[in-house]
Amino acid sequence: MKLVFLGPPGAGKGTIAVRITGILNAPHVSTGNIFREAIAAASPLGLKVKAVIDEGRLVDDGATIELVRKRLAQDDVKDSYILDGFPRTIAQAEALAGFSVVDRVINFDAPDSVVIERLSGRLVCRKCGFNWHKTFNPPEKDGVCGKCGGEIYTREDDRAEAVKKRLDVYREQTATLIEYYRKQGLLADIDASPDAGIVVENLRKLLQP
Ligand code: ADP
Ligand code: ADP
Ligand code: ZN
Repeated sequence: MKLVFLGPPGAGKGTIAVRITGILNAPHVSTGNIFREAIAAASPLGLKVKAVIDEGRLVDDGATIELVRKRLAQDDVKDSYILDGFPRTIAQAEALAGFSVVDRVINFDAPDSVVIERLSGRLVCRKCGFNWHKTFNPPEKDGVCGKCGGEIYTREDDRAEAVKKRLDVYREQTATLIEYYRKQGLLADIDASPDAGIVVENLRKLLQP
């Protein structure tokens, strides 16, 4: 199954994707993770996008579309994937339609108060990218990833100013995709507010044939 996860930053798209990727046998493709890996490796792409991402703005459509087009041409995602964080603009959605046929778009629905609380406590592993949370899912050892032993940090774009910018960008450029996909009959809404385990269970039920 080819899925798109849509929703505001902090809604839990990445967290749920990681928990359901194995169950659905659908590789998790996160544009945010790909960009962060490029930044960590100081590759030409990483150097180009770092400032834009740190400020909470969107990377340009051209570069982002090209990146996803190449990733989705790979063999492991021939039949199924979870696309997390793409598309984020109408131009990206139109480009995606030109190179892949999406089965369902899951709209992670959560109020601002919830996403702000989640983003302000998010902690990310530098090595494996796992998303911990200071209150909701703290690592056992302070500053150390319980999955891989990697170092844990707070994302530059999870600072309050960048969070505000990202929520504005979401409302201005991304939220319009909800109606775009609803009109195509592809959208399914999911309440992203409960505990992650409950969201995973509800999503499983929703996706059952
Ligand atoms: P979040 O999980 O908070 O929604 P992501 O990890 O998906 O954030 O993305 C982090 C940043 O990477 C975005 O704020 C943006 O700068 C960039 N980015 C990720 N996906 C896209 C995209 N599809 N188009 C443009 N920029 C993107
Ligand atoms: P997104 O990919 O939508 O930006 P993340 O999956 O990174 O969101 O989640 C943002 C933060 O909220 C992370 O710190 C994560 O541990 C936490 N989180 C995610 N889902 C839930 C949930 N259902 N309940 C509580 N905390 C959550
Ligand atoms: Zn880790």
